[in-house]
Amino acid sequence: MIDLRSDTVTRPTPGMLQAMMAAKTGDDVFGEDPTVNELETRCAALFDMEAALFCCSGTQTNQIAIKCHTQPGDEVICDADAHVYQYEAGGIAFNSGASVRLLPGNRGRITAAQVAAAINPDDVHKSASRLVCIENTSNRGGGSCYDFEALQHIRQVCKEHQLGFHLDGARLFNALVARNETPEQYGRLFDSISVCFSKGLGCPVGSVLLGSKAFIARARRYRKVLGGGMRQAGILAAAGLYALEYHIQRLETDHAHAAAIAGALQDCRFVENILPVETNIIIFETKGVTAADLVARFGVNGIRCNAVAPDRVRFVLHLDITETMVQQLIDKIRSL
Ligand SMILES: *Cc1c(COP(=O)(O)O)cnc(C)c1O
Repeated sequence: MIDLRSDTVTRPTPGMLQAMMAAKTGDDVFGEDPTVNELETRCAALFDMEAALFCCSGTQTNQIAIKCHTQPGDEVICDADAHVYQYEAGGIAFNSGASVRLLPGNRGRITAAQVAAAINPDDVHKSASRLVCIENTSNRGGGSCYDFEALQHIRQVCKEHQLGFHLDGARLFNALVARNETPEQYGRLFDSISVCFSKGLGCPVGSVLLGSKAFIARARRYRKVLGGGMRQAGILAAAGLYALEYHIQRLETDHAHAAAIAGALQDCRFVENILPVETNIIIFETKGVTAADLVARFGVNGIRCNAVAPDRVRFVLHLDITETMVQQLIDKIRSL
């Protein structure tokens, strides 16, 4: 099986498992797990932010961040395709009681002008615009990356209107590698950042939320109220530390694999159009066949992938997809 449904399907490598087995642990709810503490300290330093919090998922880090930034009735501004809106089970309403203003972005990316135009006036009838959430890379945008300058412009608008600025960086390391950017650049721009270790970095579990000391202190309380206080979580944090060391630069390989596969799809009968491939995700529109039927056809040929719209199929490259598998997939695409 060649499993391209998501970069979450990766299994821990032997090296990662060894690091997990050797982890020193303690009770993290008491703040006593040395490995969790090390991962939090390392991440904060990496992003030049004051503090970090290890959580069980990217949904949890995003939702905690939104809760920290808003009061019930406030409004969150984001792209209509944003994970925080599309795939977090209505969490913005459920956890924060906040309203959402959805913007039609370009492959998941919104602009400063769109944000500025979406901010509500100080009017008793309106919800209070409070937070801008952006996603880099954008999942439904096909792994698209923001230009850093565009983010700086949004930051400026947030500053002028006293809005919080949160980054859903589930795949931020893919963007950093693809665009040759640094974590510090991002740390200095955002009030809060969520990064996932369970996606391209290949860990079994875990996400980290970054922010100021005061922000993370509040986030720690919300993590507890959501039932996210873990105990000897150092086993999981050790995988994160291992991934920071060994699994970031290799994301280039996933990006190269994605580009090669996109090349093969280019002249395919069943492909109408491929979204520009910037990182490890390929989304293409189908021609003469529904996405569901095409996914089924790939399935019987040993290739697992997802339909993300009635006419859109998604492939996601990751650590467990080898050069050989990519070649097999390309051969299969040509013969289908
Ligand atoms: C996967 C993902 C998340 C978090 O998902 P979890 O499965 O809860 O870890 C958040 N944002 C984006 C863009 C994602 O792709």
